[in-house]
Amino acid sequence: VIRMVGVQKWYGDFQVLRDIDLEVQRGERIVICGPSGSGKSTLLRCINRLEEHQQGQIVVNRAELTADMRRIDAVRRDVGMVFQHFNLFPHLTILENCTLAPVWSKKYTPKEAKEVAMSYLERVRIPEQANKYPSQLSGGQQQRVAIARALCMGPKVMLFDEPTSALDPEMVKEVLDTMVSLADDGMTMLSVTHEMNFARQVANRVIFMDQGAIVEQAAPQEFFANPKHERTRLFLSQLL
Ligand code: ATP
Ligand code: MG
Repeated sequence: VIRMVGVQKWYGDFQVLRDIDLEVQRGERIVICGPSGSGKSTLLRCINRLEEHQQGQIVVNRAELTADMRRIDAVRRDVGMVFQHFNLFPHLTILENCTLAPVWSKKYTPKEAKEVAMSYLERVRIPEQANKYPSQLSGGQQQRVAIARALCMGPKVMLFDEPTSALDPEMVKEVLDTMVSLADDGMTMLSVTHEMNFARQVANRVIFMDQGAIVEQAAPQEFFANPKHERTRLFLSQLL
């Protein structure tokens, strides 16, 4: 579904991604971890082209991401993203948040979009909140809306950038449970998170990044039991 080969990215003189090689197959569940500033968010943002890379190749669903690509909206439709700070539209209701993009992009008529949105709001177990505004919901509920909103576009891949790190502890579980159930349904997922129990439970591969590079990747059992690199060990020891 996703292939990155030799990807390099700079912000001015600062190299934020170094020679990233990453292949993600359909149905894979990947957890990315690493210290602050290591380039995790930038990596995700390059995959749906919120950021541009300068060298190397990124292919998403057979479409290569290039400067002159025409169908960037097709890539965005196939790649759903959920952010740390929900990013819901505050002046729209929950239902309107979920139907805006599907209607705007002409994926669905307004009536279809509503039905699809309600089915995903049921899926994340908050259909009763459909006519409220984001500020009337708890953080955990808002994040579940953000997940439902992304799902309404029918993405083939979901990117999660620290979806629980802005939440109060008691709300983390409801969002993680939603992500686990997505994974159980076979969704291809790349998640930046420091929730290592989630990684153990759901990931088939854990990737550790430091200073813009992928330092190490392994199945969770191997990754946690037997980290190969000193930097990975140091990082894990600080988490526990
Ligand atoms: P965190 O865990 O804190 O979210 P991260 O691993 O997601 O960190 P990134 O947000 O990808 O890290 O940022 C990587 C580096 O790039 C950081 O040093 C950051 O300061 C820098 N950076 C990010 N965005 C920009 C930008 N728009 N312009 C310049 N530098 C940037
Ligand atoms: Mg980040």
